[in-house]
Amino acid sequence: MIVVASSNGRIGIEAATQILRQGGTAVDAVEVGIRLVEANPEDHTVGYNGYPNILGEVELDASVMNGRTLESGAVGALKGYTHAITVARQVMEKLPHVLLVGDGANRFAAEMGNPVQPEMLLPETRTVWANRLRPDMNDADIEAIAERTDLARWVELATDPERAKGTVNFIAQDKDGNICTGVSTSGWAWKYPGRLGDSPIIGAGNYADNRYGAAACTGMGEMAIRASTAHSLVFYMKMGLSLAEACERAMIDLRDLGGRFISVMNLVAIDKAGNHAGFSSVNGRSYIYQTPNMPECEELPRTVIPIPPRWG
Ligand code: ASP
Repeated sequence: MIVVASSNGRIGIEAATQILRQGGTAVDAVEVGIRLVEANPEDHTVGYNGYPNILGEVELDASVMNGRTLESGAVGALKGYTHAITVARQVMEKLPHVLLVGDGANRFAAEMGNPVQPEMLLPETRTVWANRLRPDMNDADIEAIAERTDLARWVELATDPERAKGTVNFIAQDKDGNICTGVSTSGWAWKYPGRLGDSPIIGAGNYADNRYGAAACTGMGEMAIRASTAHSLVFYMKMGLSLAEACERAMIDLRDLGGRFISVMNLVAIDKAGNHAGFSSVNGRSYIYQTPNMPECEELPRTVIPIPPRWG
């Protein structure tokens, strides 16, 4: 039994581990852990008070995958609800679908009785957003940004590839050996409205298969979509590679991407035996894990496979 998470999952990993200690399922552990990150207003990359899109609206993406059945659920561009991971789980368990986005996701969240959070942003976070648009826009322009027909240009100006991203990853394996992966994010800060990253895309930011292991990503989501990173990593294990070799191959696939918009990528993964690993394209990144007999999580450095950034 084990819980593995990106380092910003620290606030939720003990609660997730406690679910496993009590004999609960990997799916419950992942949801409980991620909900605590989503509720944390200090984390500007996930859930409540996450950085908004270019219009100043918080749009959340999340996914969950059950490695026992390969059942999955995901939501994209969800507005007005804190717990995207719970709505993703409801998609998995209550609908014959895998992914709901936008108005349909909001409608379904309401139908399932999730509490509405009418103001997803604290005032100081709204100010950070407005400040990103200055000095290129004055206050009146910022106020009227929703009316613009040239948003693509402003997304380019407001985007900081090194600074404005983040996501939480949780992977749990329960007493029955079942694996579940969950991912939740407010996405890329100042993104174009409706942009989805890798987090709600099964196979890109999230994949779990009890037979081999599981993987989840944070970082430049477009890269993980293009390389199908989470699925590739698990597939490499299926083809007989060790966990470390599979992580390395998945990172090399990302490094080998052509074109523009190449930035930081990170992943966490486990194999079916519960061995864990964290990889990153840059130095100084860590991940955490906890087993039921550990009183608290341990933080480990990620193995670095450098990916030279290329932008614009
Ligand atoms: N992967 C997330 C996304 O692209 C953001 C991140 O993890 O930094 O939406």
